[in-house]
Amino acid sequence: MERHVLVVFPHPDDEAFGVAGTILSHTTNSTPVTYICLTLGEMGRNMGRPLIASRETLPEIRKKELDEACKLLGITDLRHFGMRDKTVEFTDQKVLIDRILQVIKEVNPSLVITFYPGYSVHPDHDATGAAVIQAIQKLPSSERPTVHALAFSKDCEDVIGPPDVINDVANYSSNKLQVMEAHESQTAGMIDALKEAFLKKDEAAVARLTVERFWTYPIHNDRP
Ligand SMILES: [Zn+2]
Repeated sequence: MERHVLVVFPHPDDEAFGVAGTILSHTTNSTPVTYICLTLGEMGRNMGRPLIASRETLPEIRKKELDEACKLLGITDLRHFGMRDKTVEFTDQKVLIDRILQVIKEVNPSLVITFYPGYSVHPDHDATGAAVIQAIQKLPSSERPTVHALAFSKDCEDVIGPPDVINDVANYSSNKLQVMEAHESQTAGMIDALKEAFLKKDEAAVARLTVERFWTYPIHNDRP
């Protein structure tokens, strides 16, 4: 069992797709989970199907959706970093690394979950993972938490190998669906199809809702 889990992602809904079941397994165990969400995903192009948001209202809507998702996940410690969507890679990395490090020192997690830098497709994802890794590497080696990183670029397994952490989250599949549904502005177009495919035992849909895969990041290999 973990002492405390810290989750760091740039967008509301990043915590839903590849991680919700794992988060639920920790909160069900009464392990505290802190979630740092860097932005409100306010530059997203998806405004809901049917339209429920405009460019002006999207941040507020996504903030409410994230609150609801956190409630469903049992996360009581949500930290908004108030950064601008699609700009994580262009912001002052020193400041970001330091802000993340302060939270790590405060909550003292035994496990950190974030994106694997370089293999997470979206520049915000890669920049978030890189900042988290650099924050942790500022700690003495013996004080560093374990990092479980998410990767999903096409080539990732060729370079970093297969994931070494495979979590069976079948017990949480319906809760995970609810968390995805909570992000209505982003998921309304796909959730019914996913539910239907899941009920028909479609292989990809079942895998999506019952298995979550992570790579343990080699956190002790300090890079220049
Ligand atoms: Zn994202």
